[in-house]
Amino acid sequence: MKQLEDKIREEGRALSDQVLKVDAFLNHQVDPVLMQAIGKEFAERFKDANIDRIVTLESSGIAPAMMTALEMGIPFVFARKRKSLTLQDDLVEADVYSFTKQETNRISLSRRFVLPGERVLIIDDFLANGEAALGLTQLVEAAGAKVAGVGIVIEKSFQPGRDKLIERGYRVESLARIAKLEKDHISFVEVAR
Ligand code: 5GP
Repeated sequence: MKQLEDKIREEGRALSDQVLKVDAFLNHQVDPVLMQAIGKEFAERFKDANIDRIVTLESSGIAPAMMTALEMGIPFVFARKRKSLTLQDDLVEADVYSFTKQETNRISLSRRFVLPGERVLIIDDFLANGEAALGLTQLVEAAGAKVAGVGIVIEKSFQPGRDKLIERGYRVESLARIAKLEKDHISFVEVAR
């Protein structure tokens, strides 16, 4: 998605050859116009997938997931990283090791909001080693629903997440695919679309 790649080139910062900082438009400040375009792009790519619901992970998945859900006219729900006092029963849970925080979080989702038999689109901000996305697939499947696709805003294609998801049979659509991160140059995977 050219608009997203341009934004990453203009406002993204490579903290190392592994980590990209995009707090100017996705992870801290959020650009709503870009999020709307992202929502339209995911909706277009998954329009034939008969999606019933979107599942994401708090907090940075919420903005792109919500814009996609709005565009598709379906509900979305975000998995939580901490237990909430008001959200305790009927949870499905999975352990996710965080690439950026280097700690394990137990993520959870209420069975009330992902129903057996539903076709779910998982959306997340980044794909690195695939831990977060795989944790979300575990939650969706534990709730008895089917993962109909995984939509990623920024994929770091030099890390193994994409291959892990594809190996397990999931369809992955990433809007920006980073081939290489360097301090003053970010290169993208060339995709024929
Ligand atoms: P994974 O679970 O695929 O290893 O990593 C994905 C999660 O880690 C995303 O939900 C995102 O929050 C975070 N993450 C991974 N790599 C990066 C990165 O380069 N930049 C930022 N901002 N977050 C990242």
